[in-house]
Amino acid sequence: MNERIAVVTGASKGIGRAIALALAAEGCMVVVNYNGSRERAEAVVLEIETAGGKAVAMGCDVSDFKAAEDFFKMVVDWYGRIDILVNNAGITKDGLLMKMSEEDFDRVVGTNLKGAFNCIRHVSRQMLKQRSGRIVNISSVSGVMGNAGQANYSASKAGVIGLTKSAARELASRGITVNAVAPGFIDTEMTQALSEKVKEQACVQIPFGRFGRPEDVAEAVAFLASEQTGYITGQVLCVDGGMAM
Ligand code: NAP
Repeated sequence: MNERIAVVTGASKGIGRAIALALAAEGCMVVVNYNGSRERAEAVVLEIETAGGKAVAMGCDVSDFKAAEDFFKMVVDWYGRIDILVNNAGITKDGLLMKMSEEDFDRVVGTNLKGAFNCIRHVSRQMLKQRSGRIVNISSVSGVMGNAGQANYSASKAGVIGLTKSAARELASRGITVNAVAPGFIDTEMTQALSEKVKEQACVQIPFGRFGRPEDVAEAVAFLASEQTGYITGQVLCVDGGMAM
């Protein structure tokens, strides 16, 4: 079996890091994308290599259409194909709707939604040529249920679900699947920024009564990215301890 080439955006830490490690453990050559955290991305590469896997760190701001185009061209030039794209890069800029600045809205939507569009747009030509591919977009329970204080983030993550379903319909005839994973509260730097009170309130809404681990999300992504799941497309898999059922 040929080695599969996987690109994971925002893989320098948190959920993206866990996804990169999980795909490398499955035998993929992983492109560990980052925006600002180059050293941390290189540490992820080292971790993968130490475990006997293959990876490379490549910087790119996914919210920049042209930069994303150049990034995917470089991946194809180097490795000849792209089998898996995981759109994981994401940010939050929380605040009440009434006080939310235009800039905070645009930056969150620009990274989380337009970033995913940019990557799918630039990877799809290659996957169409290959007549195969797996795209997994990281949404959020906030995109499924909404969340007070996260109008920008929830809108971006709900948008990711619409993007997933439209892309799934467009690309199915060429053997490409497009699915979304919607994590609930996962223990990463993104949620470590929340106050203890908010964390306690969140746990009350989770049937499991606790936050998930990045590895819980990574396992779901690895499943949807596997060659065996070629008849699953356009789905949203919640990994949230039962929060959004
Ligand atoms: P995190 O620890 O803050 O990591 C975010 C990652 O995204 C970093 O690697 C960061 O790279 C990268 N990134 C940010 N902006 C980027 C850009 N413009 N271009 C490329 N990379 C960029 O967050 P996380 O908790 O692991 O979240 C990962 C994904 O899961 C996000 O899409 C998030 O919305 C989603 N999610 C998280 C939770 C949760 O509870 N943690 C719940 C639901 C959904 P640099 O550091 O190099 O900039």
